[in-house]
Amino acid sequence: MGENGKPLIQSFAMNGGDGPNSYTKNSAYQRGVVDAAKEMIDGAILEKLDLKSFCLGNIFRIADLGCSIGPNTFIAVQNIIDAIEQKYKAENQTHNLNLELQVFFNDTVENDFNTLFKSLPPSRQYFAAGVPGSFYDHLFPKSSIHLAHLSFALHWLSELPKEVVDTKSPAWNKGSIQCTGYVKEVADAYASQFKNDMRTFLDARADEIVPGGFLIILAAALPDGVLMSQTVMGMHHDLLASCLYDMAKLGLIEEDKVDSFNLSSYFPHVSELKELIDENEYFKNEKMEILNNPWSFELQTVETVFSQIRAVMEGIINDHFGNMINMDNLFENFCHKLAEHRLTCDQKFCKNTELFILLERKKFN
Ligand code: SAH
Repeated sequence: MGENGKPLIQSFAMNGGDGPNSYTKNSAYQRGVVDAAKEMIDGAILEKLDLKSFCLGNIFRIADLGCSIGPNTFIAVQNIIDAIEQKYKAENQTHNLNLELQVFFNDTVENDFNTLFKSLPPSRQYFAAGVPGSFYDHLFPKSSIHLAHLSFALHWLSELPKEVVDTKSPAWNKGSIQCTGYVKEVADAYASQFKNDMRTFLDARADEIVPGGFLIILAAALPDGVLMSQTVMGMHHDLLASCLYDMAKLGLIEEDKVDSFNLSSYFPHVSELKELIDENEYFKNEKMEILNNPWSFELQTVETVFSQIRAVMEGIINDHFGNMINMDNLFENFCHKLAEHRLTCDQKFCKNTELFILLERKKFN
C-alpha cells in the first residue's frame, strides 16, 4: 500500500497518439520481438493446434493481452491469422476461410484505445473489439478464447511490492529505481510479487482459454546467473535513475521523491519463469525458446534507443513526479549518458533476452 493506503499500482500506459514521442512511432524494439516469433508461431499453429475441433462453432477467438496502441499488435495478430488460414485451407482443401475470426485487443484503461481503434488495418479479416482491464483479472467468459497472445508485457507487475518503498524495511530500495539484483531483500520482494502475479495470470487464462487452446507468451527474461543491472535493459534503467538523482542534487526535484520512485517491472530469470509455468496444473509447456530479436538495442543508434525508452518511461515518470519534473531536461541528460555508455556497452553488459513460450490449455482439468 502507498500513501493513504492506496495500492501501489503504477500507470504504465505507453505514450499515446501518433506524434514523435508516441509508442506507435517508437516501438521498433518490441516489433523485433514480434517479428522474431513469427516462424515459431507458424510452427506452433501448423503443427500443434487442433483447429478442426474448434471449427464446429465456426468462430475462432484471439486475444492480444497488453496490446498497447499498435502497430505491433496488428502485426502479431496478422501473423497468427495467416498461420490459421494456411492450416485451415490445408485441412479443408478449400480456398475460403469459412471461419469467422474475432480479435480482442486488451490493455489497461489508461491505454490510448482511440489511437488503436483509429489505426486498425482497414483490410482486416476479423471483428475487432477492445477489452479494457488488467490481465491479472478475468477478462473473458469461461472457455471462450482459442488463442491468447501476449508480447513484452509480462514484466509489468500488478503492483509495486510495498517493502521496496517502506523506509523501515530491509528491502527499501533507496538509490535505485529498479530491481537491480544486487540487494537480496529487494530482489526477494520483487520475485515474490512476480510469483503471485504469474500464478494469478495463468489461473485466469486457464479459465478463459478453451481446452486445447494456446497461450503464447513473448517475454523478456534474464539469463540464469545474470543480474538485471548487468543487462543492457538494466543499464538503461540505472542511467535513468542517475539522471533523476542528478536533478535531485540540483534541487530540481526532491530526493525523497526519487527514493520512492520504483519501476513496477520485474524480469525473471529463465529458470524461475519455467518453474512458475511448470507448476501450473492447467497448462502444458510445449515450447520455451530464446528469440533472436533483429532490432536488438546494440544495433540501433543512440537516438532510436533513447526515443524508445522515452515512449515507455515518460508516462510512468509523469505519473509519479507530476509537473514538478522537466521531462525534456531529464531525457536530454539521459541521452548524453546513453551516448557515453554505448561505447563500452557491448563488452560490459549482457544482451537482453526474450523468450517464445507456447502453452497448451490441458483438456482434462
Ligand atoms: N504488446 C505490445 C505492447 C508492449 S508494451 C507490443 O508488443 O508492442 C506493454 C503493454 O502492456 C503496455 O501497453 C501496458 O499498458 C500493458 N500492460 C502492462 N500491464 C498490464 C496489465 N496488467 N493488463 C493489461 N495490460 C498491461
